[in-house]
Amino acid sequence: MKISRFFIPTLREVPGDAVIASHRLMFRAGMLRKLANGLFAYLPLGLRSFRKVEQIVREEMDAIGALEIKPTVVVPGEIWKESGRWESMGEGMLRVKNRLGNDFVVSPTAEEAFTSLMRDELSSYRQLPLSLYQINTKFRDEIRPRYGVMRGREFVMKDAYSFHTGDASLDETYEAMGRAYRRIFKRCGLTVIPVRADSGAMGGSGSEEFMVESVIGDNTLLLCKACDYAANVEKASCKRDYSAPASLEAVKAAAASLPALEKIDTPAVRTIEELCAFLKTGAKQFIKTLIYKAVNVELDLSSAPGCSKLERRRPAPDTPEVYPEAFFAVAIRGDLDVNEVKLAAALKAAEVCLAADADVVRLTGAPVGFAGPVGLTSLPLVADETVTALNDAAQGAVTGALEKDRHYRHVAYGRDFSPWLVTDVRTVVAGDFCPVCGGELYEKKGNELGHIFKLGYKYTKSMKVSYLDENGKSQIPTMGCYGIGIDRVLASVIEEHHDDNGIVWPMTAAPFQVIIVPIKYEGAVKAASDGLAADLEKRGVEVLLDDRNERPGVKFNDADLIGIPYRVVVGDKNLAGDSPKIELKYRRDKENRLVDPRRAAEELAALVFGEIEKLNN
Ligand code: ATP
Ligand code: MG
Repeated sequence: MKISRFFIPTLREVPGDAVIASHRLMFRAGMLRKLANGLFAYLPLGLRSFRKVEQIVREEMDAIGALEIKPTVVVPGEIWKESGRWESMGEGMLRVKNRLGNDFVVSPTAEEAFTSLMRDELSSYRQLPLSLYQINTKFRDEIRPRYGVMRGREFVMKDAYSFHTGDASLDETYEAMGRAYRRIFKRCGLTVIPVRADSGAMGGSGSEEFMVESVIGDNTLLLCKACDYAANVEKASCKRDYSAPASLEAVKAAAASLPALEKIDTPAVRTIEELCAFLKTGAKQFIKTLIYKAVNVELDLSSAPGCSKLERRRPAPDTPEVYPEAFFAVAIRGDLDVNEVKLAAALKAAEVCLAADADVVRLTGAPVGFAGPVGLTSLPLVADETVTALNDAAQGAVTGALEKDRHYRHVAYGRDFSPWLVTDVRTVVAGDFCPVCGGELYEKKGNELGHIFKLGYKYTKSMKVSYLDENGKSQIPTMGCYGIGIDRVLASVIEEHHDDNGIVWPMTAAPFQVIIVPIKYEGAVKAASDGLAADLEKRGVEVLLDDRNERPGVKFNDADLIGIPYRVVVGDKNLAGDSPKIELKYRRDKENRLVDPRRAAEELAALVFGEIEKLNN
């Protein structure tokens, strides 16, 4: 390909909002242009690399027997109403009406579309297991699109959905997907960290995210210094840093030996630190109590305090009943923070957030800051496991007394309060200890490139998918889903492979594999350049020939910027004489070397394919 016939509008200037390398370089290298916030056009050079990543993903999906289909991007709103997500998806989902006033959705993801397809096509257990995928446009009206295609509004995702007769089959496909994902990232030259992830309110039983380390990462990861434990903070647990009570009897026995509950005046004391100073105790003896509002709670609250009159309804006909809104008090040891994703998972809620001040006052009867578990009857109390261990200290715990400027001390779990639910909602932080081996945990920031997820029956139940088993009995299939963002993978490849001068493509994702730079495209130099290009192309190497009438320095800078792995410089001085030479330089290296032009094509082809081979295996 001659550059003069191609379209690579390189830029010296960088768009003002481009704060990360991949965003800057995709613009500067003429790969990408912006139409509007979060909407990008890939130009020819960008699209070539995009297609390479897409093809790697496709090959690995095909290799594990997943089958590609091409469904539509615009889908009827009806199927989203059936699954109940028409309501729960919120404003990120783009809804449109057609001329007849019918609802449509521009797919943000495609569980509904694939489940609806299977509902029509599945009849017998013999058709299962089945994994289908697409590599297709998605639209999410992200609140803050940023970092170029890392978080766009329109992007391309490979999303696969698998259907099974039971857990063992789902596990098998889930594991195969996990292996395929690892291969995809390796082939793209990416270093990923697979982490345990939250499997959400829908009660999925397994979920793994594939992260790249990134300072702009939206995810906090906790990793063990001693073993390979790695988890998203949303899921991370840690080894107990307290001795857990053996039983409720043991707790009550410990409570009996504590001094009696005592209400004390704590005037002008606002923070936990001030309270600790005032009472000469530590934050670890304090029970912090926060009031949360939860949305679409699936957990049965019929026996929970204050919940008897709560509204209950089904978001859609065949979906489980939910409480559209419920409030909870959450008690946790004073030095710790509540993890809202863990809390939402424990409550089987779509979402949780801290209650508004007015709700706190209404529910606790006290100003904000004085909530506590003792005597709290207006709402269910969820206690983090740490709270159950506070009876061990001689003085018991300290907590708000549901009155302005008053606290309780000598509070005993099991004597002075009994939670409705005890669970793990603690936010794990660096310095906590690994739940697997006890090693110290540390933190990294990560960006999610892919996600695999055991969905279970959520969609197949609500959308009424069934098949007949060996005995002719109707059964519901179980499901998995598996996503990778193609754009985000591509941008991450650039993040991991660039230097001050531009992109340094791994061979598998490079838009071209060799760039030929004639010092002056005329005479013998032109003939040698054209000859080499033709020879390389015959061998299946992708070649860009810089035939522009530009100074060599400009051409070299552009070659570095667009990051083509091998650069060949053809000049008349080196060509002259008995042993003609051309200059060969690997983008990653500083040095170049001279090679015989007659052997150059063979040598380059071997280098190019050798490198692809290395990344692919
Ligand atoms: P995030 O938490 O980053 O918003 P997500 O968990 O919502 O992502 P999934 O629904 O799991 O994303 O989608 C699968 C993959 O699609 C992600 O791992 C990511 O690679 C990609 N993806 C999601 N949202 C975007 C986006 N706005 N722009 C580009 N890629 C995206
Ligand atoms: Mg995800």
